[in-house]
Amino acid sequence: MRQIKQIVLALLLVILISTPAYWGHAQQAEIDGPIYIVQTGDTLWGIAVRFRVSVDDLARANNISDPGQLRLGARLVIPGLDGIQGLLTTSSVAYGDTLRSLSRRYQMPAEMLARLNHLTSPDEFYAGNTLVLLEQEQPIHTRRMMLAPGQSLLELAIIEGGNPWSLIHDNSLAGSWAAMAGEVLHTTTTESSPDLPPGPSAAPGLIEEIRLAPTFLVQGKSAVLRIIAPPGLSLTGTLDQRPLNFFPDPDGGYTSLQGVHAMVEPGAYQLSIQVTLPPEPPHNGAPYAFSQTVIVRSGNYPFDPVLIVKPETIDPQVTGPEETQWFELATPVTPEKLWQGIFQSPIGPPFNDCYPSKFGNRRSYNGSAYSFFHTGLDFCGGVGVDILAPAEGVVVFAGALTVRGNATMINHGWGVYTGYMHQSEILVKTGDKVQAGQLIGKVGETGRITGPHLHWELFVGGIQVDPLDWLTQIFP
Ligand SMILES: [Zn+2]
Repeated sequence: MRQIKQIVLALLLVILISTPAYWGHAQQAEIDGPIYIVQTGDTLWGIAVRFRVSVDDLARANNISDPGQLRLGARLVIPGLDGIQGLLTTSSVAYGDTLRSLSRRYQMPAEMLARLNHLTSPDEFYAGNTLVLLEQEQPIHTRRMMLAPGQSLLELAIIEGGNPWSLIHDNSLAGSWAAMAGEVLHTTTTESSPDLPPGPSAAPGLIEEIRLAPTFLVQGKSAVLRIIAPPGLSLTGTLDQRPLNFFPDPDGGYTSLQGVHAMVEPGAYQLSIQVTLPPEPPHNGAPYAFSQTVIVRSGNYPFDPVLIVKPETIDPQVTGPEETQWFELATPVTPEKLWQGIFQSPIGPPFNDCYPSKFGNRRSYNGSAYSFFHTGLDFCGGVGVDILAPAEGVVVFAGALTVRGNATMINHGWGVYTGYMHQSEILVKTGDKVQAGQLIGKVGETGRITGPHLHWELFVGGIQVDPLDWLTQIFP
C-alpha cells in the first residue's frame, strides 16, 4: 500500500514538473528564430511559400492546429533560421539586383541574405523571385557609384563627396585596394530624396531602372528590355547568347526587343548587358557589365494530332535552303522604328479573328517526334480575300517560293518583320514602302498546303513569335 502511494506521488511530481505553468514562464518567451507578423490577406500556405519552408514545419513551430485560423497581427516564428533574430519582411528581386549589390543596399552580410533566402545556387537569385529581408529599425538609403578603371577609392570619394573609410565600411571591403574597376559601390545616406530612387542595386547611379517585360519570359513570346538612363550611353547585350540591339526610345531610355524561341527548354538563362558610360566627366566612358539569371516559362502550347504530309515537304534537303533564305531575310536589324502602336489585323472582317490554327502548336509529321511547331498564325478566308499591311514597313521580299508559295516579307524596323505565305496574288514588290492598312496581296493556296489560308509570321530579333500578341498589345 505504501509502495503504491509512493508511486502515485512520484507520478504526480513528474506531471507537475513537466507542466509549463510550474516553471512560471510561457514557452514563447525564448523564441528561437526570426518573426513574421501576419498581414491582411496572408495564408499559412502563402507565408510558407514566401519564406521557403513547409506548411507543416511552419504550423508545428507555431503550434497551429487549424491553418484557417491565422490571426491578423500574429507573430509567427519562421523555422530553419536558427541564430537569426528580428522581424522578417519580403520584397522581390528586380532586374539589376545581385546578392552582393543587395547586401550593400541593405547593409546586410551576403551570407545572411543567402541564408534568409535558402539560396543554394546563384541561379536561384533571379528577378521576380521573392526576396526575404530582415526589417531595419531605421530604413537605410544608399547611393550608387561605380569605380572607373584607373580610379582610386579616394578619388571616387572626392568626386562623390564622401570619404574612403565609409566606402570601405559600407561595402564590406577588406581595404581600399579591394575595390575593383567596374564595381558598383554603395554609400549610405541619412534620408531618401526624390532624386535618389532605389534603382537597380548592381548598376551605376545613372541607370535608373532595368525592366524586362514580361518578368518571366515565355516560350514563343516577345520580350522587351528597357534601360532607363540619360542619353549618351552605348549599350550591347545578349539574351541566352543571342545579341540584343538597343535603340534610344522616344520616351527616354533604351529599348531592345527580342523573341524567345517557341521550342527553347523552360528554365534559367543568362541576360548580359554591357554599357559604355557617357564620355564626359565624371563617367569618362567607363565600361560597365552586368549579368543576371532570367527565367523562361513554358508557353503551354497544345499538341496537334499527327499530320500526314508528302515526305518531301519535311525533307531538310528540300526545305532547308528555303528556310535559310527566309530567316536571312528577317535577320538585319534596322534602326528606324516604322510602326506606331498596335498592329492591325492583316485580314479584315469577317475573318479578322478567325484562326484555324494558332502559333506555337507542337507538331509531328508522319509520326515523327513533336520537334516541329506552328511558326505563325493562320487566318480563315478563301482565295482572293484581301491581305493588308499591319503596320508601316518596307518590303524586303516579294516572290514565289516552293514551300511557302507566293510570299512577302515586310521590315518594320528594330528587328521586327512580318511574313505572308500561300498568296494567290502579290501586290507589292521588294523595296516598296507600305503603310498600315495598305492592300499588299490576296489569300491563296500556293506552295505546299492543303487548303487556302493566310499563314502570317512575325519575327523579333530573328525569332518567330506569337503574332497575336502584336494585335492585342502595344510594343515595345
Ligand atoms: Zn500556318
